[in-house]
Amino acid sequence: MRIYQFEITSICNLGCDYCPQKALRRPKLHMSREIFDRVVEFPFFFNIACGHHFGEPLLHPDLLYIAERCREKGLFFGFSTNAELLTMDILDDLVKAGLSWIKISFHTERAERIYREIIDRYPMLPVLTSELDYIHDWAGQVDVSRVHSKHIYSSSEDSGSGDCIFHVEDLCVIDSEGRILACCMDAHGVSTMATITDMTEVEFMNMKNNLYFHLCRRCHIKAAEIKGEYNLFETLAKKAEDFLMQPR
Ligand code: SF4
Ligand code: SF4
Repeated sequence: MRIYQFEITSICNLGCDYCPQKALRRPKLHMSREIFDRVVEFPFFFNIACGHHFGEPLLHPDLLYIAERCREKGLFFGFSTNAELLTMDILDDLVKAGLSWIKISFHTERAERIYREIIDRYPMLPVLTSELDYIHDWAGQVDVSRVHSKHIYSSSEDSGSGDCIFHVEDLCVIDSEGRILACCMDAHGVSTMATITDMTEVEFMNMKNNLYFHLCRRCHIKAAEIKGEYNLFETLAKKAEDFLMQPR
């Protein structure tokens, strides 16, 4: 098993209609330092430490510590943010601490403005974006019937079959309570396989992700996106490494 992403926090400062976060059926809290210190000891997919799941990472009070520890461990730390709290001063501090990539979700006009500021200030920093032109219903976890978007992918019970990257590569998500989830689609923690603080590194590495749970039946991701995921992670790791090598 390797970590695909970990949830720094399950608290968010927005409440987007197309996101299961506001109706989360588990505690909304920041990952504790104790759990984070354990998480960072385990292997990550392509050494990329994605610090998001269902929450806004910039709300975490220990974010600089998290970035520093990831860098010390040789991990490429970054996260997806709605950018509401992001300023260039905060970005400077994060980059000094070890941030090596970032993803801006365009939920607001402010996010689009911040995106332009970031690429002006750090031309070498890998900056991913998430557009609202394409949204999905999180394998049926959200009613998106009243959401406005150019392309909406709604799930159906016959969404096809096939392994996804989580099954093929034995990947997982660590939520803010330290639970090991089978998938990044799982908002409510229904695919919990174990808890990271109860495991040794060897036990974790030997774990398999064979869990086909009810979301898998309605999932639009499946095998079609596996190649894209490899390309994304491989390219991101290379660019993040180049960015970290730059003199500060
Ligand atoms: S989409 Fe992102 S910003 Fe919007 S509620 Fe979900 S976690 Fe928060
Ligand atoms: S819900 Fe989709 S992405 Fe998640 S484990 Fe199942 S098939 Fe894979």
